[in-house]
Amino acid sequence: MSAGRYLRGFGLRSEYDVIVAGGGVAGLSAAIFLGRAGVSAAVFDRAESSLRRVSRVNNYPGYPDGVGGSALLDLCLQHARRFGARIIDERIQEVCLSPPGFTVRAGADEAWCRFFLLASNKRTDLAQSLGLALVGFGAKFVGVDERGETVVPACYAAGRITGLPSQAVVSAGSGARVAIAIIERMRGAYYVDHDV
Ligand SMILES: Cc1cc2nc3c(=O)[nH]c(=O)nc-3n(C[C@H](O)[C@H](O)[C@H](O)COP(=O)(O)OP(=O)(O)OC[C@H]3O[C@@H](n4cnc5c(N)ncnc54)[C@H](O)[C@@H]3O)c2cc1C
Repeated sequence: MSAGRYLRGFGLRSEYDVIVAGGGVAGLSAAIFLGRAGVSAAVFDRAESSLRRVSRVNNYPGYPDGVGGSALLDLCLQHARRFGARIIDERIQEVCLSPPGFTVRAGADEAWCRFFLLASNKRTDLAQSLGLALVGFGAKFVGVDERGETVVPACYAAGRITGLPSQAVVSAGSGARVAIAIIERMRGAYYVDHDV
């Protein structure tokens, strides 16, 4: 991992509208949509997505000749940064309810967010620490409603962690869907992100 792609330490700002646990395609897609809507978002990630080990992804729309998994994620990182997302090279070690939001701890630092988004795929420790029961095939997934919210109010989940098919484009769509649900909740109005 090149140090230039990530920022170490996050003491400069400690409050975000949304904190995302996981910078795979689900978390980064969510960050792009949140950023474009002017919602402050921080994505915590340690670059452990399985996609980073895939030499050629041949089924992601827009890449007829395929794209390296790591290259695809780097483009998503670049895209999320372009719209203001803070990408933080730390694992979230702890999350706890801190009404009306959540406090997360990563390394020596803490940050607060109004909405917490789980996009951490196989890592369900944070979900379980919030009291979320694991559901679905093999009891490995986090249950969500049609807008991506878990039974813990203001805690959302997106991507493979919700039991969706293990395909990158599905996780990317899920991240976008959940971001729009959060944006609509913050604004209290229907939202689309359409360029003209
Ligand atoms: C061998 C293999 C090959 C594959 N090939 C393809 C393919 O060709 N095409 C395709 O469409 N799909 C493929 N997939 C599936 C694809 O990798 C997944 O569907 C996709 O990566 C899921 O995206 P996600 O964002 O939900 O989770 P992930 O991409 O897994 O991202 C989750 C991220 O969360 C981070 N994280 C976890 N816990 C924390 C925490 N506490 N704090 C901070 N960060 C955390 C992890 O480090 C990771 O980077 C393949 C999977 C495997 C295993």
